[in-house]
Amino acid sequence: MAENITATQLHKALIGLCDTIEEQKDYLSELDGAIGDGDHGVNMAKCFRGVKKNLLALEVSDVHSVIICVGMEVMNSVGGAMGALYGTFFLKMAANATGKNSVNLSELSSMLSGALDGVLTIGKAKVGDKTLVDTLTPAVAALCEASEKGKSLDDGLTDFEAAAKAGMESTKDLIAKMGRASRLGERTIGHQDAGATSCFFILQSLAKAAN
Ligand code: ADP
Ligand code: MG
Repeated sequence: MAENITATQLHKALIGLCDTIEEQKDYLSELDGAIGDGDHGVNMAKCFRGVKKNLLALEVSDVHSVIICVGMEVMNSVGGAMGALYGTFFLKMAANATGKNSVNLSELSSMLSGALDGVLTIGKAKVGDKTLVDTLTPAVAALCEASEKGKSLDDGLTDFEAAAKAGMESTKDLIAKMGRASRLGERTIGHQDAGATSCFFILQSLAKAAN
């Protein structure tokens, strides 16, 4: 397997993500409905329909152009907190990718570290608060660790996806501390967080990009 993800592979993976979000719309709203207002799937699907349209119209130049295309649409279209959170995620991720036709494990790690920092700065959620941060933080840590250990891209992405999945699943046992769900306190135990789940789908699409 190659040690780089190309701009074209990333473009294809992110179009695939738009289809996944559409397929998972009802599931995401169901998860949000248990402890929130039940609109997460609808919010995400509406936004990623716009993203798909823009990606299909994009003439792929570099990695930056692909991710910026997603980030701009997300920032502008999803209502409420998610637009700003996922918009920041993609816009920060795109930084430093200008002019790159492909990225390796080390470059992807620093792009995702920047994306995580952006989300933490604007959302102010911590690990354990039962949000998308519980998926994102361990996944980025696993990717950085793989990069520092000199692992292959394939192994790094496998670790990344596994950590994201475990992080998503960890939200089931947590008490919500942020957003609407926090009002329900202990009643949120037993329910997987909707944002942690959509975040897993986003990260999974990146993990599969090199395939
Ligand atoms: P809303 O809460 O406005 O209905 P959504 O239903 O689309 O928006 O999104 C809810 C998700 O947002 C939650 O499941 C949680 O993962 C995430 N979330 C809420 N607040 C924060 C925050 N401050 N930082 C990170 N993620 C958050
Ligand atoms: Mg909601």
